[in-house]
Amino acid sequence: MLGRFLTYFISWTILGASSLAIAQSTELLTKSELKQIIKLRDSALKSNLGYDILESLTTEVGARMAGTPQDTKAVNWAVAKFKELGFDKVWKEPVTFDTWIRGVETAEVTSPYPQSLHITALGGSVATAKGGVTESVVHFETLDQLKAAKESDVKGKIVFISNKMERTKTGKGYGAAVVVRRNGAIEASKKGAIAVLIRSIGTDSHRMPHTGMMAYSDEVKKIPAAALSNPDADQLERIFKRTKDVSIKLNISSHSGPKFTSYNVIGEITGSESPEEVIIMGGHLDSWDLGTGAVDDGAGVGITMAAAKLIKDSGIKHRRSIRVILWAAEEQGLIGAFAYADAHKNHLKQHIVGAESDFGAGKVYQFSSLVTDKDLPFIDQMEKVFAPLGIARGNNKATPGPDLIPLYQIGMPVFRLSQDGTDYFDLHHTDDDTIDKVDPEAISQNVAAYVVYSLMTAQYKGGLVRPKQAKK
Ligand code: ZN
Ligand code: ZN
Repeated sequence: MLGRFLTYFISWTILGASSLAIAQSTELLTKSELKQIIKLRDSALKSNLGYDILESLTTEVGARMAGTPQDTKAVNWAVAKFKELGFDKVWKEPVTFDTWIRGVETAEVTSPYPQSLHITALGGSVATAKGGVTESVVHFETLDQLKAAKESDVKGKIVFISNKMERTKTGKGYGAAVVVRRNGAIEASKKGAIAVLIRSIGTDSHRMPHTGMMAYSDEVKKIPAAALSNPDADQLERIFKRTKDVSIKLNISSHSGPKFTSYNVIGEITGSESPEEVIIMGGHLDSWDLGTGAVDDGAGVGITMAAAKLIKDSGIKHRRSIRVILWAAEEQGLIGAFAYADAHKNHLKQHIVGAESDFGAGKVYQFSSLVTDKDLPFIDQMEKVFAPLGIARGNNKATPGPDLIPLYQIGMPVFRLSQDGTDYFDLHHTDDDTIDKVDPEAISQNVAAYVVYSLMTAQYKGGLVRPKQAKK
């Protein structure tokens, strides 16, 4: 612990010397501004506020699936918490969407070795026939194998896809695997399947299936879709090694419900010179219904609320406003994010830059920017302030966090603070996503990182223009 703070002290001294050399442009942060930020960065490391906010949300609200009474409780919690923390402005913006209700979800092998299986319905799934269906199963190792299969081998059957997700620090294994969750039902239905069971999109070996949104196509019949826990998928694969003649009884009663109005909940710390210009950060307020949404995304909520609160309490005057957005209904398809982008599209230029914390509770190891060459000296300054947190400079091709995609698509620059996601997909969208898995010290490091990101961009006098080729 002592060694860590000694490192900060030394790097602060080095920074003080080198920042003199680059602070030639009038747009860059001054030496005294940098000193203030570094001091706050280091005190943020000793603050437990981010963890305390996460603990409050996951204890006092718990699970908060969009469109449920828990969603309303989370919105009320967020408004009250922003006010309690003393944000200058607190408001909410409505978001209306169709709801989905989970219901019963059971599966069992009926032949050749009768036994129960642990499953969870995928978000948006339709129900099986009342009481369930018993049918023979056809196994594919990948989605491509299913696509290449003969219709006669699939028609009338339950499709099982056993594709495994790869564990990585960056989460790139998720992108490769999640297509099975999203498109499995569509591809299975094209060949006449009656239901689809996938191996969970997750990296654990616990008997907890991972839920998550799936898609349907208007061109083909909607069929029920569920995920098996990884050990259950392994079990089914072992059975298939013995015989192709496998039958399963699947009973899912999930269905769509009435329209529901939730809210993006927003808290802002007002800037001193250009308050109409805003730096955006946040996480999504909703979670799945299985765990208590600690790593997805209570952590992002706690981290970004705490960072803004610490900036407010520091008394540091910052030129631009810092806006924390707790996004609604992210899990159901970025619904709050699209509503916000639509409502604010005429004020896009005032949205200087955005970053979202939605990748769990691991430490930040890298930051990436998305700016023109003109702003690179400012990124050099950021690099030096991030470095003592163990955060390296990434590339200048940052991609948006999920809820920033709609704003990014219409031209907003984004930053990415990349978290170590090695363990994230052990917990993601499962019963196991609870706060005991969260390391308070890692949360404090994230808070310090968001203090640096938001305060530095709020102080920078340049415009943070996005490179043209990055525009979609
Ligand atoms: Zn998330
Ligand atoms: Zn999620």
